[in-house]
Amino acid sequence: MKDWTYIVGPCAAETEEQVMETARAVSCQLSDISGQVIFRAGIWKPRTQPDTFQGIGDEGLLWLQRVKQETGLDVATEVATPEQVKKALRAGVDYIWIGARTSANPIAVQEIADAIKGSNLQGVFVKNPVNDDVALWAGDIERIEKAGVNVAAVHRGCGHQPCWKMAYELHKQRPDIKLILDPSHMSGDAEKIAGLCQDAKELEYDGVMIEVHNNPNQALSDNRQQITPEQLHELLILNINNQQQTELKWLRHMIDEVDDQLWQTLQKRMEISRQIGAWKKQEGMEVVQPTRFQEILQKRKKWAHKVGLEENMVEAIFIEIHKESVRVQK
Ligand code: PEP
Ligand code: MN
Repeated sequence: MKDWTYIVGPCAAETEEQVMETARAVSCQLSDISGQVIFRAGIWKPRTQPDTFQGIGDEGLLWLQRVKQETGLDVATEVATPEQVKKALRAGVDYIWIGARTSANPIAVQEIADAIKGSNLQGVFVKNPVNDDVALWAGDIERIEKAGVNVAAVHRGCGHQPCWKMAYELHKQRPDIKLILDPSHMSGDAEKIAGLCQDAKELEYDGVMIEVHNNPNQALSDNRQQITPEQLHELLILNINNQQQTELKWLRHMIDEVDDQLWQTLQKRMEISRQIGAWKKQEGMEVVQPTRFQEILQKRKKWAHKVGLEENMVEAIFIEIHKESVRVQK
C-alpha cells in the first residue's frame, strides 16, 4: 500500500496544555506508522453560531511552534483571510487548509492564493465547499495551484452527507492531485470514523484528516466527532488488503448514498401524507381523491419521459407509494 498522509489533531487549539498533550500523544501513537504525519489545530474557527468558541486566535500559533520544536511534526492550521495567511506564514506553519465555508467563496480563495504567492509553504489542503459543487472545488484548487504552491484536496462531504459523487468526479478530473478523506466532519460522529477510514482505504484515497483531542468530551468545538490519540492508533492499525475493483467500490458508494436519500425521501413523504390524512379527517374529506391522483401521476409520467426513465416503471412505483399513502391516511 502506498504511504498515506495523516493530518491529525484537535478541531481547535484551546489551551497550550491541551495542544501539547494531544501532540505528544499523537506523535507517540503514530510513531510506528509509515507515511507522513501532520499535526492540525484550528486557531481561527469559522463557527456557525456567534456565541460559541471562535478559536483562541494568534496566541495558538505559538503553541503550534512549540509542537514543531518538541515533536518534530509538521503543523497545519486553517486560514480564511489574507491576514491569517500572513500570520501563519510568519509563525512558520508548514501547511494551511481552506475550510468548507471559505472554499464556497471564490473571492476569499483568490485572496488567500494571492497572499501565499512566493511563500515557502509546503502545501495547501483545499476542502470541498459546503455545497455539493465539484466545479467550484476544482476552481479553488486551480487558484491555489496558480499561486505556485502544492495542493491536495480534502473531501469532507456536505453537512454530514458524504457526497461521494462529488469526490469521484474531482478524482476523475484531477487524478494528479492527492485526495484526502475527512471522516470527522463528514460524519460528525466519533463512532463512524473507523468505517469511513476503511472506505478511504478501499477507495484508494491518499490519506485522512482526523480530529483528535486529548479529552474529546471536554472539547470546546466538535466534541461528538473527536477521538483520543489511543483510539486513533487503534483505527489506523486496521489493515485492509482488499484493494481490488476500486472503480466498482466507488460506484457502489455512490449508489448506496442515492439509495439512502431515496428511502429518506420516502419516509419524509409518508410523514407529510400522515399530516394530510389528519387534515382530511378533520375536514371530513375522503382519503382517496381520484382527480388529484391522476393529476400527479400524469405529471410524473411526463417528467419520466423527458428524463429518459421508463414510464411504466415510474407508474408502477408511484401506484405502490400511493397505496401506502392511502393506508397511512386511513
Ligand atoms: C475543521 O477542519 O476544523 C473545519 C472547520 O472543517 P470544515 O471546514 O470541513 O467544516
Ligand atoms: Mn472541527
